[in-house]
Amino acid sequence: MIFNMGNITKTYCIITYGCQMNLHESEKLAGMLQNLGYVKTDNEEQADIIVFNTCCIRENAEKKAEGNIGALKKLKRTNKNLIIAVGGCMTQQQGYADKLVKKFPFIDIVFGTHNLENFAELLTEKTESKKHIVAVSEKEGKIIEGTPKMRSSFPNGWVNISYGCNNFCTYCIVPFVRGRERSRLPEEIVKECKDLIDSGYKEITLLGQNVNSYGHDLGNVSFADLIRRVSEIDGDFRLRFMTNHPKDLTEDMVKAIAESPKTAKSIHLPVQAGSSRILQLMNRHYTRGDYLDKIALLRKYIPDIAITTDIMVGFPTETDEDFKDTISLVKEVRFAGAFTFIYSPRSGTPAAKMDGQIDEAVSKTRIMELIDLQNGINREQSKAYLGKEIEILCEGFDEKKGKYLGRDTYGRMAYFNGKNLIGRFVNVKITRTGGISLLGETVSVKE
Ligand code: SF4
Repeated sequence: MIFNMGNITKTYCIITYGCQMNLHESEKLAGMLQNLGYVKTDNEEQADIIVFNTCCIRENAEKKAEGNIGALKKLKRTNKNLIIAVGGCMTQQQGYADKLVKKFPFIDIVFGTHNLENFAELLTEKTESKKHIVAVSEKEGKIIEGTPKMRSSFPNGWVNISYGCNNFCTYCIVPFVRGRERSRLPEEIVKECKDLIDSGYKEITLLGQNVNSYGHDLGNVSFADLIRRVSEIDGDFRLRFMTNHPKDLTEDMVKAIAESPKTAKSIHLPVQAGSSRILQLMNRHYTRGDYLDKIALLRKYIPDIAITTDIMVGFPTETDEDFKDTISLVKEVRFAGAFTFIYSPRSGTPAAKMDGQIDEAVSKTRIMELIDLQNGINREQSKAYLGKEIEILCEGFDEKKGKYLGRDTYGRMAYFNGKNLIGRFVNVKITRTGGISLLGETVSVKE
């Protein structure tokens, strides 16, 4: 069905919160809308449909989304034909859809994470019936292949390899809103990667809540096999993946990364905390020692691998001693980057009911110390780049800086001059270093 009636073109605007998984799912929503004849606009006031793809990992993300939805009440009053749809992790939480509809009765469609692939049908139903639609299935369905995608991240193509998570870390809402882990068939993944590479994409990022457990439900394929199969595709491209659970990282996976020249030499391995006591309370299934063993394994096969991480401070009962363990682990590993967070209780998770919730002021002091430490490490690592020539995949142009930008195999961001560079491999000589990013001169461009 096409909604392009005569000369009137219908427009859509998608507002995305949260992680890369959500950004990629917004590419699917955009693909479905384009298939229905809608075209993209960034101006909410001109849109015929506004879709919120929400996140519930932290309370802040939820508050922000609700604030932005509430702000549309006025627009809805002046444009009666405007359709407002809200989906994603926030709406999948138990009882949340009803709460949302009560709070914002002007919402037209509410859809859960398990209903995203059916968004086109929900929208058609809405436009035909004019009824309010709430579609939040409790259980995950089968994986649906072939959903159209309107990609927004050239030269990087995101490719889902699995959905959901089986781990139930005690602070995390994901298993409750994304369901159990389901792996896509390797043939489907390899085909999607090949199509992307054939159409000029230069970087593939395989996505899953825990890519390391990929294939457990299929039985005859592992993540190491998948790395090997995707790396064998003809073409000049880089392979990345995220996110990796340390407990499932195997020697075979590390060998697969080490042996494949196309696989980027960087890995995101969230540690969350440096104290074994806290890790146990988090239900992470590894100790501090286990994590350090995985780091040693990575460095045995890939000595220069860049390791980034996620660290949470202020988990219930975290003492000064526990926090010191986190600080000493950061000093020992010397991460190439760290996403640091203050623990945020999520209703419905075991950690939210734990005694010993930490005072916000204490968490803030701890996170500042951690950020200072990590920034210092990054500054030192950046200095080592000075005068070196590195290969960067150019990803975009920063209007404010007036420079191109991209990352090397280790994931380090650099800014540089040039012309028509997006989607090309560029050799850049680093002339200045800041915090985590680098500044350089273009030396040559790969044909
Ligand atoms: S591994 Fe843990 S933190 Fe990651 S998505 Fe699964 S439950 Fe959440």
